[in-house]
Amino acid sequence: MATKPMSYPIMEKLVALSRRRGFLFQSSEIYDGINAVYDYGPMGVELKRNIKDLWWQDMVRSREDILGMDTAILMHPRVWEASGHVNNFHDPMTECKKCRRRYRVDHLPEGTKDCPECGGELAEAKQFNLMFRTKLGSTDEGSMDVYLRPETAQGIFVNFANVVASNRVKLPFGIAQLGKAFRNEITTGNFIFRTREFEQMEMEFFIHPGENARWLEYWAEERLNWYKSLGISPEKLRLRAHGPDELAHYSSACYDVEYAFPYGFSEVEGIADRGTYDLDQHNAFSKKKLDYIDQENGGVRIVPAVIETSAGVDRSVLTVMTDAFWEDEANERIVMRFSPKLAPYKAAVFPLFKKEGMPEIARKLYEQLRRHTAVIYDDGGSIGKRYRRQDEIGTPFCLTVDHESLNDHAVTLRDRDSLEQIRIPIGKVPDILKEKIGL
Ligand code: ATP
Repeated sequence: MATKPMSYPIMEKLVALSRRRGFLFQSSEIYDGINAVYDYGPMGVELKRNIKDLWWQDMVRSREDILGMDTAILMHPRVWEASGHVNNFHDPMTECKKCRRRYRVDHLPEGTKDCPECGGELAEAKQFNLMFRTKLGSTDEGSMDVYLRPETAQGIFVNFANVVASNRVKLPFGIAQLGKAFRNEITTGNFIFRTREFEQMEMEFFIHPGENARWLEYWAEERLNWYKSLGISPEKLRLRAHGPDELAHYSSACYDVEYAFPYGFSEVEGIADRGTYDLDQHNAFSKKKLDYIDQENGGVRIVPAVIETSAGVDRSVLTVMTDAFWEDEANERIVMRFSPKLAPYKAAVFPLFKKEGMPEIARKLYEQLRRHTAVIYDDGGSIGKRYRRQDEIGTPFCLTVDHESLNDHAVTLRDRDSLEQIRIPIGKVPDILKEKIGL
């Protein structure tokens, strides 16, 4: 099961670049791969980590009203009964009777009766639960059926009382977490857009019931602006309100942040009004009190309502990569125009040649910069080749030490996007980079 052929040329080029430059590989590639599961290579992991770190910084560390958590992937199976996932977390599936290809009915044009691939007859639609099931415990008698979590949110809801009891929190406040989720998706594809193992960045914002509409609007705007702050083209981002027939079983209103991918506007993040659904359900199923004593209103016990922001890490990576991908035909190169704060490396240091004292100066500069930020040292191949390599991994600046550097104590700074080259004193490199990219 190798990577499926992409029907969009840009996506095919992005997949090829990802592999060539070590952003993403098909999982278990040497065994022909496993469908819709991917591994992040050395460049991909840096890009992904930068996105996650910025989310944590902006959603948790820089806010007084949001706390973080990290809950387990395996949870008691009753959690998923209470949350509605056992009964409701399924997609309608159909299978071609001839070629056995499977489709999500809601992804086919309405009324489709024949297989889009081979024209065979499609079977009647069945509901297919998306949760992966496994066994906890070593013996058959002593083992229990458990699920790999399909979302991180439930880990937050079941810990609501623990967080309230162990921290000084006052409504409105949020609890955020970042972690793996698993869904046995019927149809996958478009590279890492829809995979079976992925990461989510979720935040549950607990509010006084009745304030839902105001907070939903607030978080929809905040989250849209967050993607803009990553340097993604604003005209390719939009907020879309869900129609009543699209809402998930727990939600009464929802916005999606969408990006204009080559295959059309698609969801990157969902912002949903979950009301009191989850806490009510866990109250009923666990018989424990998941509520909040409202000191400001005479100490009455209330069940807070919730506005959720639920983003996919991998979809954010795909959004950033798609947006950054630029075929600079005039200069015959491919450039990943990442914002400097997301780029795996902020600068590259090259000695023009491996002789005449150039490597010594270059390494000294590299060691100095490495203390402050992510930089790479490269002395392999022609300077042109080195520039191309850095362009394709999105390094914003290259610093080249040449013959002249020995005399003028200066280096050439080359800008990834404009290709402008300027001469700057070695001693000023940290300050100049600081100004340009915020070291
Ligand atoms: P869809 O309708 O596309 O299946 P969804 O509406 O069920 O998605 P949510 O449950 O709202 O998705 O999930 C929240 C976020 O988690 C999504 O916006 C997306 O970024 C991410 N996500 C969900 N499923 C996947 C997946 N299979 N692969 C990668 N990311 C995913």
